[in-house]
Amino acid sequence: MTIIHVSAECYPVAKAGGLGDVAGALPKYLNQAGHDAKLVMPMYRTKFLNQNDWEVVHKGMTNLGDYFFEYTIIKETTNKLGFELYLVDIYGLLDREKIYGYDDDPQRFTAFQIAVVDWMASWQYQPDVVHVHDHHTGLIPFMMKYCYRYSHLRFVPTVITIHNAQYQGWMGWDKSVYIPAYDTWKTGLLDWENTINPLASGIKCAERVTTVSWSYLEELRYMSNGLEALFEYEKGKCSGILNGIDADVWNPASDSYLKHDYSVSSFEEGKAKSKAELCDVFGLTPEKPLFVFIGRLVGEKAADLLPAVIGDSFNHVGRNMNFLILGSGDPSVEGELNGLMGLSQQDYSCYIGYNEALSHQMYAGADFLLMPSRVEPCGLNQMYAMRYGTVPLVRNTGGLRDTVLDIGAPGGYGIVFNDATVGDVTHGIWRATEMYQDKELMLSARKKMMELDFSWEKSVQEYIRLYESL
Ligand code: ADP
Repeated sequence: MTIIHVSAECYPVAKAGGLGDVAGALPKYLNQAGHDAKLVMPMYRTKFLNQNDWEVVHKGMTNLGDYFFEYTIIKETTNKLGFELYLVDIYGLLDREKIYGYDDDPQRFTAFQIAVVDWMASWQYQPDVVHVHDHHTGLIPFMMKYCYRYSHLRFVPTVITIHNAQYQGWMGWDKSVYIPAYDTWKTGLLDWENTINPLASGIKCAERVTTVSWSYLEELRYMSNGLEALFEYEKGKCSGILNGIDADVWNPASDSYLKHDYSVSSFEEGKAKSKAELCDVFGLTPEKPLFVFIGRLVGEKAADLLPAVIGDSFNHVGRNMNFLILGSGDPSVEGELNGLMGLSQQDYSCYIGYNEALSHQMYAGADFLLMPSRVEPCGLNQMYAMRYGTVPLVRNTGGLRDTVLDIGAPGGYGIVFNDATVGDVTHGIWRATEMYQDKELMLSARKKMMELDFSWEKSVQEYIRLYESL
C-alpha cells in the first residue's frame, strides 16, 4: 500500500512534542513492514534543512482566499529517515524558525493543507490512504471530499489520528474564504459550535479516527474540550492504537547523546555513571534519588503543581531527594521553577528551554520520572524512561494508565496515583523514596521495565490492518 502521512511535526526535522516522535517513526516502521509510506510536512527553517540534501519535485500555484501563492515541494534525496520525506515551502507563511505560536497560524496551516492537497491532485496515481495527524491537517479529509477542484480525490480513504484533542485549530467563519470552493451543502462538516473546527471536521470526514491509546479514546467521550458529543456519535469509526517508541533512537545501548551506554543485561554501572554526570553538571547530590520532569510546562501536564510538590516533598518527606526539571511553557511556572533555584541545597535544579540531548541524559541518569498529567493521550516520556530503567510516577489517566503498572500490583514496576493534586503527587514521591531504599526491588523493577516491549512493530501491524480494512 502507498500511505501518505501529513503532519506539522516530524523528528528530527522539527519537533515540539510527541507528535514529532510518532511522525518520525510510524512511516519508517510501515516501510519496514513492506509498505510504501511517505511523509509531507511544512518546510520550517530548522537546522535539519541546512544539514541535508534536497531536490525540488514540484512547484505549484494556488490560493488562500484572494491571496495567490506559489508553493514548492522538496524531497530529501537519501531517504535518511527510512521513508520519503517531502517538505512544503510557502514563502512568507511557512518559512519560520518555530513550528507554532504565530498569530497567523490559521492561515499558515490552511495554506499548507491546500498546497498538500493541490500537489496530490496533480499526481498520476492515487495513494491507498492519506493519513493526517491532529488539527493542523484536519481539513484535508474535507478538502479531498468536498472541494470541487480536488473532487477526483474524493474516493481516496483518509484516516485522522488524534494525538491531542485539547487543541482544535478553531477559526472564525470569516476564514471560510480560505477554503477552496466547496459544496456548501456540506458546510456543517466544517463547523462545531459556530466556528470552523479543523479537528472536528477531520473526525467527521475521515473514514477512520484513531487515538494514541485506548484509555484516551474512552476519556474523550466525557472530556475532550467540547467535542464529547462528537466522539460519542462517531464512536463506531474510532479506535485506539498505542504509540510505539523508536527503538533506534531511544536505546540506552546505542544512544549517541549518552557517554555511558548500558543495556538490560548490565545497566547498574552505566546508569550510575549517567546519574553522577548529570548531578555534577547541575550541582545535585548523586547519593540521593533523582526525580526528573521533562515536558511542556502547561496545565495539561500539571506542571503548575511542580513548585508546590517540590516544596511539600522537601518539607514533609525530607530533603533526601533531588529534583531536576527540563521544560518550557507557561511563563509563571517557568518563573516559579527558576525562583526555587535560590532555595536549593544541592538538591534542586532546572533547565528552562528545549534540549533534546539533555532529555536523553535525564532519562538515563534519573531514578524516577514525574508525570502528574491532567490529560495524557499516550505519553512517550514514561515509555522512554522505562526503556532507560527509570521508574515512572504517573497519574492514572490516558496512555499512562495503559502503560504503567503500579509496583503494588502483581508484576508491577511503576508508581501510579489517582489525582493531579499536590497531595497525591507528594504521596507518590514518598512511596518512591521508600522504594529507593530497597535496592533489590529497584533492581528488579528496572530490569522488568527495560524488558517491556513498547516497539513500533506491534502498533504498526494494527495500523496496517486498519488501512487494509479501507
Ligand atoms: P506531548 O506530545 O504532549 O508534549 P509526549 O509525552 O507525547 O508529550 O512527548 C513529549 C516528547 O517531547 C518527548 O520526546 C520528550 O522527551 C520531548 N520533550 C518535551 N519537552 C522537552 C524539552 N523541554 N526538551 C527536550 N525534549 C522535550
